[in-house]
Amino acid sequence: MGTVTAPEPCIFCEIVAGRAPAHVVYEDAATLAFLDIFPFTRGHLLVVPKRHVDRLVDLAPAEYSAFLGAVVQGCRQVERLTRDYNVGLNQGRLAGQIVFHLHFHVIPRYNDGNPFGQTPRTRLESGEATGIVRDLGGPLRR
Ligand code: 5GP
Ligand code: ZN
Repeated sequence: MGTVTAPEPCIFCEIVAGRAPAHVVYEDAATLAFLDIFPFTRGHLLVVPKRHVDRLVDLAPAEYSAFLGAVVQGCRQVERLTRDYNVGLNQGRLAGQIVFHLHFHVIPRYNDGNPFGQTPRTRLESGEATGIVRDLGGPLRR
């Protein structure tokens, strides 16, 4: 942990290292939050661990708390703009991930519509749900 081991030049590692500019809104020992350069809305933030990991599941358990705390902090800051916002993670290319350094989006919503409301959805059938829960390895109880 601690060392930056991006497989190739990583723009968010460059920002963390101070070699690329960013509009930082929050920083602690393990985390940085800054404005997205192509914001969906005013105040769109990205919250990134300083250590380069691509995926949420690559975080060590000891890192969870600081990272989630920083996401909460980003939300708290966005609440200065609006109480309505989306928190999102695009994980993997097919999910729309384009920067392969873990980051949560915090996207303030004003009156611009909810992006999750735009695709028609059909109600989940319970038989199908049972199979999906099984495929997810659930139900997990700890
Ligand atoms: P993804 O689709 O990977 O979840 O989102 C990556 C986000 O990073 C995009 O919303 C994009 O606008 C943002 N982004 C890409 N390059 C830069 C950059 O150099 N600086 C900042 N601040 N944001 C970036
Ligand atoms: Zn990186």
